[in-house]
Amino acid sequence: MSTHTCDSFIVSCIDFRFQKYIQKWLSKNMKGKKYDYVGFAGGVKDMKTIMGQLKISVDLHHIKQAILINHEECGAYGKLSTHDRHEKDLKKAKKLVEKTYPQLKVTLFYLHLDGKFEKIK
Ligand SMILES: [Zn+2]
Repeated sequence: MSTHTCDSFIVSCIDFRFQKYIQKWLSKNMKGKKYDYVGFAGGVKDMKTIMGQLKISVDLHHIKQAILINHEECGAYGKLSTHDRHEKDLKKAKKLVEKTYPQLKVTLFYLHLDGKFEKIK
């Protein structure tokens, strides 16, 4: 059994255009913290896959927080990549995570093309 732990589980899209913003945000907001970071096309679009990854993070690393990041102009969403749709999917993902792991704090972000992180409440 593994005994190493970390603070957070972070999901974002694979889109290369956003990686520099995410890395910058992480180095600022997760400074000194450890996290599991996974990238999937569409961010939280495929929650079935993400829940599998999250389970491993919870079971092995006893994380306290999940940070879910979707972004503007996401190719995995295509024409459906609207602010409303991303907000809806992020909130739905949060509900599912909270229902499955009530101990986790879930934070949502919508990442704009210019690198701005918009917190979704
Ligand atoms: Zn994307």
